[in-house]
Amino acid sequence: MLRLTEIKLPLEHTEADLQSAILKKLRLAPESLRRYTIFKRSYDARKRGAVSFVYVLDIETPKQAQLLQQFKKDPHVVPTPDTTYRYVAKVPSGLEARPIIVGNGPCGMFAGLLLAQMGFCPLILERGKAVHDRSVDTFGFWSKRKFNPESNAQFGEGGAGTFSDGKLYSRIKDANRQGRKVLTELVNAGAAPEILYINKPHIGTYRLVKIVENMRHTIESLGGEIRFQSRVDTIDIENGQVRGVMLANGDYIRSDHVVVAIGHSARDTFEMLHRQGVYIEPKPFSIGFRVEHPQTLINEFRLGSQAGHPMLGAADYQLVHHCSNGRSVYSFCMCPGGQVVAATSELGRVVTNGMSQYERSGKNANSGIVVGITPEDYPGSPLAGIDLQRSLEARAFELGGGTYEAPGQLIGDFLAQQPSTQLGTVKPSYKPGVHLCDLSSSLPDYAIAAIREAIPAFDQQIKGFAMHDAVLTGVETRTSSPICIKRGDDYQSINTKGLYPAGEGAGYAGGILSAGVDGIKVAEAVALSLMEAAACK
Ligand code: FAD
Repeated sequence: MLRLTEIKLPLEHTEADLQSAILKKLRLAPESLRRYTIFKRSYDARKRGAVSFVYVLDIETPKQAQLLQQFKKDPHVVPTPDTTYRYVAKVPSGLEARPIIVGNGPCGMFAGLLLAQMGFCPLILERGKAVHDRSVDTFGFWSKRKFNPESNAQFGEGGAGTFSDGKLYSRIKDANRQGRKVLTELVNAGAAPEILYINKPHIGTYRLVKIVENMRHTIESLGGEIRFQSRVDTIDIENGQVRGVMLANGDYIRSDHVVVAIGHSARDTFEMLHRQGVYIEPKPFSIGFRVEHPQTLINEFRLGSQAGHPMLGAADYQLVHHCSNGRSVYSFCMCPGGQVVAATSELGRVVTNGMSQYERSGKNANSGIVVGITPEDYPGSPLAGIDLQRSLEARAFELGGGTYEAPGQLIGDFLAQQPSTQLGTVKPSYKPGVHLCDLSSSLPDYAIAAIREAIPAFDQQIKGFAMHDAVLTGVETRTSSPICIKRGDDYQSINTKGLYPAGEGAGYAGGILSAGVDGIKVAEAVALSLMEAAACK
């Protein structure tokens, strides 16, 4: 096949226009074009009101050799690279050892799927509930303030991103095709095939729930096993080698290969690993607020007269400002047409995050506006970042009135350094509700100063960003893991053999796609190690 890049067409175009563009570019007669598929489609919105689509296409033609010769100096006509994922191992016959995966978020799920596909029958242990029951608890908390510390926006089947926008983009390189493998498996589990080719794909929360269930059925059909409400409370380590795990209910399960894919909110599990001597380092993360604007403001700014076009959907943004106090403020996990959600995993704390449905049809655009912080801001123990997160989340709970409402303030009041007492035109979407107040004591002074400086700077980038009525809610503290569980080139902990720290919690991913990719990498390492151990017997 031939790969054709940089085929540009205006927003309004038909399939016939696309075909004509291919024929024109390759100077080909229609009968010589057997078939084409879209590998990638993005849009170029740099000229507001004149958005164009840019295609990467794969072409099947009997004239391939001739065309490659004819276009040999054209970097936009090349042979299609092979993007097929290849398994690194296959279970040896008679292998009894069974790998354990702790956590069934995207990382644990993809590690489990890959190990199951290679025949290693993994056992996945998940502290939360299956996704249907978890949805009941999570939506129940949002509507009735009844909080379950083991079943919420962070914990349960599908992991942290289950109730999310399901954005699937990442800047990771994909030399070994694991990223493509993640997207392909998501499509096999029910995601729209467009996620394979559109530039910034997203799944949306309701669809994610079904996909997570389908992936569970696939893992089980391949000999894997998933146990819910099975929190791992102890890792059994003997002379620096993992021997098994102990569950909260006292059950002991033996294994020399334990993947720890516990996400960034499993603070009790981080503490347990630290107590047991597993090497952990503190890591930078970010803190801040969620901000809500009318989605129409973002659409009109980004897309001009083409705002609202069904091919473009709700527009997003990405902002960054380097402040005079040396801090950087940036937008994080922007959810077009979405909703701000209560994302705590602990009692008596308030944490914000964002989600949206596939249609992204909500009235508000929301995004984290966060400040980067480093271990110098929380010196001491490797777990000191968690103490900082906890104190900010407890303060937000208090400022919100102690009822799980999020403390909120209008941007105009935040900039004028006065408390808010009344909402304006933007109705915040956070459930169970927003308690208006003064947010200036909700974050360290340096972070408040940085955000106060960044908002007017963002207004220079998106006219109206600093609108008086836009609503800030706090606090955004779970942007990434505050720790890194260091691993070596063999993907095992640098001081505990057989322990495979993985995914976002261990510091090796930052989002659904990269967590899935890390799950695959770790599954490959586990499979190779199991094969080696079997060969030595
Ligand atoms: P997690 O998804 O956190 O999964 C860890 C799992 O381990 C959990 O299910 C937890 O219950 C379980 N666990 C923890 N401790 C134990 C234990 N001791 N025993 C057994 N099980 C345990 N990312 C994107 O890319 N796009 C988005 O649109 C997006 N939106 C988000 C919206 C929200 C509301 C949230 C909270 C996150 C969002 N993210 C998004 C981030 C994304 O969800 C995470 O990056 C991703 O889920 C990390 O995957 P993971 O598997 O490493 O960890």
